[in-house]
Amino acid sequence: LILGDGANLLVADAGVGNLVVSLAQGEFTRTDFAAGQLADGRVGVFVGAGAKLPQVITSAHRAGLTGLELLGGIPASMGGALVMNAGGAFGELGTFVHAVHALTRGGRAVTIARDEITFSYRRTDLGPRAAGGLIVTGVTLALTRAPSPEAVERARAKLIEVMGYKKDSQPMAAASAGCAFKNPTLDRAVAGVGEAGQRVSAGLLIDRAGCKGLTLGCASVSTRHANFITADPSHPRPCAADVIALMRQARQRVQDASGVTLEPEVVIWGERL
Ligand SMILES: Cc1cc2nc3c(=O)[nH]c(=O)nc-3n(C[C@H](O)[C@H](O)[C@H](O)COP(=O)(O)OP(=O)(O)OC[C@H]3O[C@@H](n4cnc5c(N)ncnc54)[C@H](O)[C@@H]3O)c2cc1C
Repeated sequence: LILGDGANLLVADAGVGNLVVSLAQGEFTRTDFAAGQLADGRVGVFVGAGAKLPQVITSAHRAGLTGLELLGGIPASMGGALVMNAGGAFGELGTFVHAVHALTRGGRAVTIARDEITFSYRRTDLGPRAAGGLIVTGVTLALTRAPSPEAVERARAKLIEVMGYKKDSQPMAAASAGCAFKNPTLDRAVAGVGEAGQRVSAGLLIDRAGCKGLTLGCASVSTRHANFITADPSHPRPCAADVIALMRQARQRVQDASGVTLEPEVVIWGERL
């Protein structure tokens, strides 16, 4: 199993029996802002899979390169952000990917061009490419060279705006694995929520099912954003089982209240939802 920053992971209280590999050091955290000019005029930037996305955003600005500020406030390693196609209201990582560098489970190094990868909502099709999925070792991003120092300042201001939006609407300081469920696409109209074919907020559905503030052991449905399940770190016993049980409860309540089946966004190791 490959561990990124763990920001989207829920690990069973008993742990996992697999070998867990982290790429959070050495060559895997290297960033090269001089990777070269791309055919579309943007700048190719190599980022190792273990580099942290928030730091890459600020380093890119220091190097006069913009674009990634739309992904402000997302805790992630570059590998995890890529695999999950991390993003939100302002944009998603897939837009900035030029190529992906990876290892097959057989140990063969491969480079995959952007147009060979399907980026969709909170996923890519990289996982099933090789038995057990590819291990992403780095990404070549396509960023924009800011034409002036003022343009970099505008990008910095945008980063602050994006982070502020997240801070106002999500429990950023609490212990969580981000959004518990993916925002579903409705297969039929749900009164007060949306029309058939529309992607709607899982948080809204969970809220309307009366789950906001629901607590089970050390886990609670956040009162700030119902799609975040937060864990009380001071609780005396391990918490993953409570989080999973609360996710099951929320999913069932949404099913009963609106007929919508929520799919988990968090990746769960060692347990099934
Ligand atoms: C407070 C908070 C806010 C968040 N807000 C957002 C948001 O706005 N938008 C959003 O998209 N997400 C958000 N998340 C979720 C999380 O930040 C993203 O899913 C992020 O992309 C996870 O990256 P990671 O490195 O932590 O991956 P991990 O959680 O460590 O792993 C996630 C998955 O990716 C796989 N993986 C990781 N690295 C590699 C690699 N190198 N090769 C192959 N597979 C790999 C893992 O095996 C696992 O299956 C939030 C999380 C928190 C806690």
